Amino acid sequence: MNLKKFRITAAAGKKSLGVFLDRLDMLVPEDLPVVVAKIDAAVWQKVDCTTCANCCKTMTPTYKKSDVLRISAFLAITPQEFVSRWLHKEEETGDWVNNTQPCQFLVDNKCSVYDVRPKDCAQFPHHNSVPFDDYNETFKNNLALCPATYLLVNKLKKIVERDYEWD
Ligand code: SF4
Ligand code: SF4
Repeated sequence: MNLKKFRITAAAGKKSLGVFLDRLDMLVPEDLPVVVAKIDAAVWQKVDCTTCANCCKTMTPTYKKSDVLRISAFLAITPQEFVSRWLHKEEETGDWVNNTQPCQFLVDNKCSVYDVRPKDCAQFPHHNSVPFDDYNETFKNNLALCPATYLLVNKLKKIVERDYEWD
């Protein structure tokens, strides 16, 4: 994954894709889940997360109590030690998040706690979360961060504008 090239492409295209996502809120085709699933499958033929890891480098997951318990057990440390070493509570949201980016668990571009990673990471980039359009704000924020989301929304825009009444 050439992240430098992706950033240039995303910077140029994210505005129009953001406008599309805003308008999608008003349209929401009935067969959207089927269309999204098809595009998503094609996206993962092109994108290899192990050569990217941009989410782990630039964002933080949110940690639920169950995540802290599971990962600290895996690391053989106490949950208190886990929290004091790596996390803080975000003032605005009350979410537990990483102190630093890249994520402390990213080692050689791979997740060193992959099998027990936070649920938030396991669900990222939320392409299969339902309903899809509930995540429009998330997708908008991630257009310039996640190559897979950028490709998905770009392709979705082309298909929706071609196949559906849009005005
Ligand atoms: S989910 Fe997106 S940002 Fe994260 S590694 Fe995969 S393509 Fe990159
Ligand atoms: S826990 Fe793993 S998957 Fe999640 S941000 Fe950290 S390195 Fe990435």
